[in-house]
Amino acid sequence: MEEIRPNLFRLRIPLPDSPLKYLNSYVIKSDDRNLIVDTGLNRSVCLAAMQAGLEELDIDITRTDFFITHLHADHFGLVSRLVSDTSRVYFNRPDAELIESWEGFEPMIAFAGQNGFPQDELRAALESHPGHKFGSAWVPELKLMAQGETIQIGAYHFQCIETPGHTLGHTCLYEPSEKIFIAGDHILIDITPNIQCWEDTQNPLRNYLDSLDMVSGLDVDIVLPGHRRIFTHFHERIRELKQHHQHRLEEAEEILSKGDRQSAFAVAAQMSWDIKSESWDAFPVAQKWFATGEAIAHLRYLERDGRISQHMEAGVVVFSLKNN
Ligand SMILES: [Zn+2]
Repeated sequence: MEEIRPNLFRLRIPLPDSPLKYLNSYVIKSDDRNLIVDTGLNRSVCLAAMQAGLEELDIDITRTDFFITHLHADHFGLVSRLVSDTSRVYFNRPDAELIESWEGFEPMIAFAGQNGFPQDELRAALESHPGHKFGSAWVPELKLMAQGETIQIGAYHFQCIETPGHTLGHTCLYEPSEKIFIAGDHILIDITPNIQCWEDTQNPLRNYLDSLDMVSGLDVDIVLPGHRRIFTHFHERIRELKQHHQHRLEEAEEILSKGDRQSAFAVAAQMSWDIKSESWDAFPVAQKWFATGEAIAHLRYLERDGRISQHMEAGVVVFSLKNN
């Protein structure tokens, strides 16, 4: 536990077996109600770390509300184990609708198959996916927040800032007078937030880059991210993240410039990934799934931008440069 600003604390909730290592849960204490931002997975090791931290901070859970930045299980999963009868759980509408309409992994597996991914391998891998095993047991009543609405905790006034990209409804918190930005998984340091696309209509990378532009106008002294370390150089990190995706877009175009029409899975196999492995074939299936989702997000962006085209060939979506 560490105090970052007066009455604003960070708890590190361990995420075993994850390259993310831990989730940062932020606890804001006040004489009236407390606020916990993001919670961890619904598993005992996370619950134990959370309970130990709350005890150390002398937090009365019956006077505590929650803000969850997005629907992923490492942020949302534990909240149902922590809420009291009086807790408000602040959340966003797009992710709430995704939770409501969730029909299991099958539609995503079918979509992955259409993009060249071996479906049976993926189905087997997803059964042990942490989001599947350690998601919320039930969904508490959610108080849906929109852009600009505020949550007041003690001296802090946090504004909700909608930042779609990592998920459709991802929302950050901004404290303008203290210049604090609680970033969720929108802006991370050392690692780049995962931007994936697993359905036909959205353009998540477009959303993500627009969201980066939108927050770049904010005056920020300290960034409190959902994972890894706290940092200060907000604007420089935004520029790096934008540059990272520009390079990825160029890389995808470069791969397609070799000629043949290729599936997203085939493109992903040729992109460069920050994964310690000898070859694409040696990647764990879960990593191939992440990589392919990222490749689809970049190909979708290029396609919507009119830079590449897509066709169906024998039931598989294939991409090519415009003139091929
Ligand atoms: Zn996360």
